[in-house]
Amino acid sequence: MSFSLYVHIPWCQSKCPYCDFNSHAAASWPEADYTRALISELEYRARAPSYSGQRIRTIFFGGGTPSLFDPKSIGQIIEAASRVCGIEDDAEITLEANPGTVDLAKLVGMRAAGVNRISFGAQSFNAATLKFLGRIHSADETRAAAKMAHRAGFERLNLDLIFAVPGQTVADVMFDIESVAALEPDHISAYNL
Ligand code: SF4
Repeated sequence: MSFSLYVHIPWCQSKCPYCDFNSHAAASWPEADYTRALISELEYRARAPSYSGQRIRTIFFGGGTPSLFDPKSIGQIIEAASRVCGIEDDAEITLEANPGTVDLAKLVGMRAAGVNRISFGAQSFNAATLKFLGRIHSADETRAAAKMAHRAGFERLNLDLIFAVPGQTVADVMFDIESVAALEPDHISAYNL
């Protein structure tokens, strides 16, 4: 038996106006305290009989913007999960990332910390749509982030798109689909706004 672990990191650089997630704009965040709290909760919950003898088959760091965290913090959480529960050898460990919050060093650090799948919120490659959605990143930052992820050793890459944005035409959506496909992700998630 195995189970999946979802880890929520609730901070973002700014709050997108369409977002209903538990996420909060912040200039700084209590990263060390929150990491310790997550590990304590993991240790506590792992003692429940329902988890006894079970290993972890997937971990998903969602948010919020988990890529705001330092790779060392993410690594500490993965190490704790491995120590407390055990992680299956072929486990998928995903981190959601905002293209405007990463550079090559951070992605290399996340890969070294044990993350093996990265999921970027691309949303659109149209500057006006990104502005309407309140996104902090540009289309070029998404293109650069996807290339850096491949260089950092991520074989599994997801890119999120949002469609049905007010004013968006079918041609706009086709442009977004062609743009995202050109970056050769192995997975694309498209969400109706
Ligand atoms: S970056 Fe994501 S989680 Fe943060 S406010 Fe925007 S949509 Fe919500």
